[in-house]
Amino acid sequence: MKVAVFSCKPYDKRTLEAATKDATDLELVFFESRLSTETVSLVQGYDAVSCFVNDDLSREVLEQLSAKGIKAIALRCAGYNNVDLYCAKALSMPVFHVPDYSPTSVAEHAVALILTLNRKIHRAYHRVKEGNFALEGLMGFNLEGKTVGCIGTGRIGEAFCRIMMGFGCRVICYDLTQNQRLLELGAEYLDLESLYAQSDIISLHCPLNASTHHLINKSSLEKMKDGVMIINTSRGALVNAQEAIDGLYSGKIGFLGLDVYEQEGKFFFEDMSDHIIYDSVFQLLLTFPNVVVTGHQGYFTDIALRHIADTTLENLRQLQSP
Ligand code: NAD
Repeated sequence: MKVAVFSCKPYDKRTLEAATKDATDLELVFFESRLSTETVSLVQGYDAVSCFVNDDLSREVLEQLSAKGIKAIALRCAGYNNVDLYCAKALSMPVFHVPDYSPTSVAEHAVALILTLNRKIHRAYHRVKEGNFALEGLMGFNLEGKTVGCIGTGRIGEAFCRIMMGFGCRVICYDLTQNQRLLELGAEYLDLESLYAQSDIISLHCPLNASTHHLINKSSLEKMKDGVMIINTSRGALVNAQEAIDGLYSGKIGFLGLDVYEQEGKFFFEDMSDHIIYDSVFQLLLTFPNVVVTGHQGYFTDIALRHIADTTLENLRQLQSP
């Protein structure tokens, strides 16, 4: 089976090459470019494509993939909001994803954003590098006793809640279904409005879909505590960035930690030193001292990369088996 691997960074390539070192059944060809209407012509002569979070798997691209003989899509990520699943189904093109590669990687990254913001590590580090050991403006708060709201308590949300319980936080949750393991550990499920009203920190761990698009917006922010900390390691469009900026100006949002950004697809695979590619809303976000942004690296740990590679290959092999 010949597979075109898109959005393939050197570290993905190294892990996938190591995992297929002795394989005779799979031939992987690596493309750093993102799959889009412009690059879809590259797939001629392949059996399957492997894609990542920002590849374009809209109807237009899927139809072209199908016309060129692509039989399946093996995503190297958990979320599949970038895939038109209805169209894929209509084209009889199975879409595999990697649902469970390492929920703790993302959960720990959410916690890292919380600690960075709370203890102002990002600011302290620069001061100390300049020989400035003054603590003025760097006071944090104890997490112990704080109320943490978790929206979405699937794999990553559960791992996140477990860690926050370890800090001595009260953990309150919202999900469409309750997670029995978390209930047994003492988590409480509330309606969304109560979660907004009671949380000191809100962390998003639900998928992006029509009902969660811009979940964090002017109206939901109004229901939250003044100075709330918001953490998003899920998908960028869960947060209306412009309305979050208004919340930062007004003080409604005290801290904002983002690993994902709605427009990240535009610059995810570009040279990040070229600031011109940033849009103006993102540039503005970067000017706030109480905002920390990372570039979709929540998943990026050694174990997670290995699991992603192994599961992607298993998924492709499943397609080959009779
Ligand atoms: P999961 O499917 O295990 O859990 C998602 C949970 O969200 C489920 O319990 C589901 O019931 C719940 N949910 C669905 N709709 C909801 C709604 N409207 N309101 C509240 N909850 C809702 O998924 P997961 O593995 O925990 O991943 C969560 C998200 O994290 C993924 O969708 C993906 O977008 C994101 N993610 C980010 C990274 C990263 O590197 N930053 C890596 C992996 C996944």
